[in-house]
Amino acid sequence: MKAILYDAPRSFSYRDMPEPTIDDDEVLIRVRACGVCGTDLHIHEGEFGPRFPLVPGHEFAGEIAAVGARAGTWRTGDRVVANCNRACGHCFFCRRGEALHCETLKAYGIQMDGGFAEYLKVKAADVFPVSGLSWREAIMVEPTACAVHGMDILAVRPGSDVLMFGAGPTGQVLAQLLKHNGATRLTVAAPAGPKLDLAARLSADRVVAVDRNDPELHRKALRDISPNGFDYVVEATGAAAMCAEAVHQVRRGGTVLIYGVYPEPATFPVNPFDVFRNEITIKGSFAQIHDFGRSLAYLESGQVKVGEIVTDDFELKDWGAALDNAWARRGIKSVMIPPGS
Ligand SMILES: [Zn+2]
Ligand SMILES: [Zn+2]
Repeated sequence: MKAILYDAPRSFSYRDMPEPTIDDDEVLIRVRACGVCGTDLHIHEGEFGPRFPLVPGHEFAGEIAAVGARAGTWRTGDRVVANCNRACGHCFFCRRGEALHCETLKAYGIQMDGGFAEYLKVKAADVFPVSGLSWREAIMVEPTACAVHGMDILAVRPGSDVLMFGAGPTGQVLAQLLKHNGATRLTVAAPAGPKLDLAARLSADRVVAVDRNDPELHRKALRDISPNGFDYVVEATGAAAMCAEAVHQVRRGGTVLIYGVYPEPATFPVNPFDVFRNEITIKGSFAQIHDFGRSLAYLESGQVKVGEIVTDDFELKDWGAALDNAWARRGIKSVMIPPGS
């Protein structure tokens, strides 16, 4: 089969590889589409603990091509996605029922081979049917599951005034979930362009253009919308400087959610007196582990719309071009298409 294989950070090739051989509790998936995620750019650099050699890609969708002897009732041709995260089940956190905090959490596409290939093998227990979704919608099941987990963490009080910085792919999903779950007014602030326009169409009541060179412009616009700040502020850009901005915009008694993916050494200044005096809560949300079912419920019911989020298609052999596209921040989200799909 054809695959993108990394043998070290920044060192990848499009090559022939043997098809994976499945164990009794596994299924083989013929990949039809695999989303490109910000995480893949970190893996390219060797961040997030990847195992090499590695086939990346954790947002895959495809058809069952073979079923192990103890892999349940799956049949060849079933349209599926699979939860990419696997907890060990044995560590301190797993035994407390906190699998997402597993000390040795592994993921397809990071520590196990993923979906930038014609085929991959996964544990049957991780597989979910996606009969009602197109392949382009199905690659959004994993990012939507992460957004569902973000909603659990945020626990929005009904009737809230919410601000989100950023309008990237998972932000677009989280914004829709906020509108369905407690935000009576949602403001999205991001650089002017197609992402902010899409947020205005899909979810936001108000949009504010952010000019990184002149932050006073968006600060004034946000003060005009909500002079006392916002009940919840979601930082979904992944830029550490915007975390301080988020704390600055939250109302007394309000909550900030740190939701982007930041460089590991990045820091931001927090004034502890403000946190104390204004009773601000700062929360974090990382990935997901048991949220594919609820993600599918939102996507298959049409309550979360993802059709316009996937903007750029690349053939699997063109991974280098897809990387350039992501670095140049063109489009909103890219998808890799294996040969023959
Ligand atoms: Zn992802
Ligand atoms: Zn564990």
